[in-house]
Amino acid sequence: MQVLQGIAVSPGIAIGEALVVDTEGFILPQHRIAHSEVDAELARLDLAMEAVADDIGRDRESVAEQLGDEYAAIFSAHQQMMCDPHLRTRLEALIRENLCPPEVAVAKTLRGYARKFQQMDNAYLAERAHDLRDLEQRLLDYLMARQRPSLSKLTDPAIILAHDLTPSQTAKLDRHKVLGFVTEAGGEGGHTAILAKGLEIPAVVGVGQMLVNVVCGSHLIVDGDQGTVIIKPDAATLSSYQEKCEQHRSRSLRLQQLRDLPCETRDGTRIQLLANIEFPQEVPTCIERGAGGIGLYRTEFLYLGSDTEPTEETHYQAYREVLQAMQQRPVVIRTLDLGADKMGYASLVADEHNPFLGLRSIRLSLRNLDLFRTQLRAILRASPFGSARIMFPLVTTLLELRQAKLLLRETMEDLQDEGHSIPTDIPIGMMVEVPAAVMMIDHFLREVDFVSIGTNDLTQYTLAVDRSNKEVADLYHACDPAVIKLIDMTLKAARAANIPANVCGQMSGTPHLALLLLGLGLRGFSVPPAAIPEIKRICRSVTLDQCETVAAHVLEMESAREVDNYLQEQLRQLAPQTNT
Ligand code: PEP
Ligand code: MG
Repeated sequence: MQVLQGIAVSPGIAIGEALVVDTEGFILPQHRIAHSEVDAELARLDLAMEAVADDIGRDRESVAEQLGDEYAAIFSAHQQMMCDPHLRTRLEALIRENLCPPEVAVAKTLRGYARKFQQMDNAYLAERAHDLRDLEQRLLDYLMARQRPSLSKLTDPAIILAHDLTPSQTAKLDRHKVLGFVTEAGGEGGHTAILAKGLEIPAVVGVGQMLVNVVCGSHLIVDGDQGTVIIKPDAATLSSYQEKCEQHRSRSLRLQQLRDLPCETRDGTRIQLLANIEFPQEVPTCIERGAGGIGLYRTEFLYLGSDTEPTEETHYQAYREVLQAMQQRPVVIRTLDLGADKMGYASLVADEHNPFLGLRSIRLSLRNLDLFRTQLRAILRASPFGSARIMFPLVTTLLELRQAKLLLRETMEDLQDEGHSIPTDIPIGMMVEVPAAVMMIDHFLREVDFVSIGTNDLTQYTLAVDRSNKEVADLYHACDPAVIKLIDMTLKAARAANIPANVCGQMSGTPHLALLLLGLGLRGFSVPPAAIPEIKRICRSVTLDQCETVAAHVLEMESAREVDNYLQEQLRQLAPQTNT
């Protein structure tokens, strides 16, 4: 049994078999081969080994020509490894005796060797681990004919293990087959983590190097509550986790009973509880959980889930589906928040050193007016089918807001000229997720109908911490006093201007932080659908007085850790969980 610790990003427990997607995006086969297939599989392995040896030979010659024999010697070492009879014998044993497909035999053997080299004190030998990894990739390239199967078409339920999953890979995961996922890279605020929550797949990210230690089919437990991954659990651990799964199930059944009760505090103040979605398919779950509407529809996933650029019709169909299904409940459609961090099939942006400070979001839309207009046309055309609101992301300057509103007005006029009847009173709002917007909030509030605080980005930009970088994940805290002060400023200003404000960042769906937000005066939460029942339970357990006292204490604190510990304790006291 081996226990790894990472960052818990999507709650729940998954128990199942590992499906390893290696760093190059391959999925290794899950099955065992039949006895009758052994000879054919060995022949396939030999062909791949010969082809790789030829490739290495060609690389060696070319490097020798360009850089000299000294550099070409690296490839001689690769060739020696490839032709080493021990390697062939070991691979044959795994295929013949354990009935492993050659891909698995190669991955298992070369990763095992790489691990041993890495553990050596000798720096030169430790470096050889890279060479082994390179050989493994080359062999897999041939064995798998360079095909990278799709994660959306798995045959059996599995837990995905990968170095990293891009948001677009995550978007395509088959939620019925993927029991959970674990990545070596990634951080709490990254979009992969947000998607995992949206898809309600237990997930742990940022566990560091692990792929060398796991092969396909290994038994695993993913504890998305604690951020723990247990490889090959022993019987006692397995049974204690099976029990936890049962507790999860009965807890969610209990919470379901709150569905039709109003979301209000114990002293009767109504709280608006909305849902964040990435796909129209999430709407039935939102309704089932009792969402009062959609507070954030992240439309960029229309781009990320597809291999081609969506047309106006594709946008229109998606928005219409959500608006109709929500039946006059508010639906906040956020315009594209695409950026280098979320780009899937095609980048509209050249290389950027700092994608989060680059051409993303509203900046990208204002630079690509055709793309922006296409989306605005679709939203406006769909708007008669429900109660649509439009929200612009990452607004930093008043000029950006004014340009976006101008384009919206022009698009509306174009559609009216074409004979479409479009409601003219669609509320227009903006995300407050950059400290500059908070500093200028009084001005912004004169020009919008509502604001929504994006604490994921607000935290990143306030603390100068990349939200998806595991190396600095320990510095990323939405409950840092600096972030809390900015939220407080925004809520106070919005109240004074009588403009509705909500929080749609992950913070509002985090139970102990929700307690603080209530105390700071927040009356509108937009949370992942899975978090709705728990946030409702908390609202119904507390009075505003209690929350205001908590918030007053927090505003005096000096560190994120102090705030976090205090709020966890207050949550235990004010809204204790029952296990029955
Ligand atoms: C945020 O930044 O808090 C937010 C809700 O937007 P996203 O996570 O999509 O950037
Ligand atoms: Mg954001």
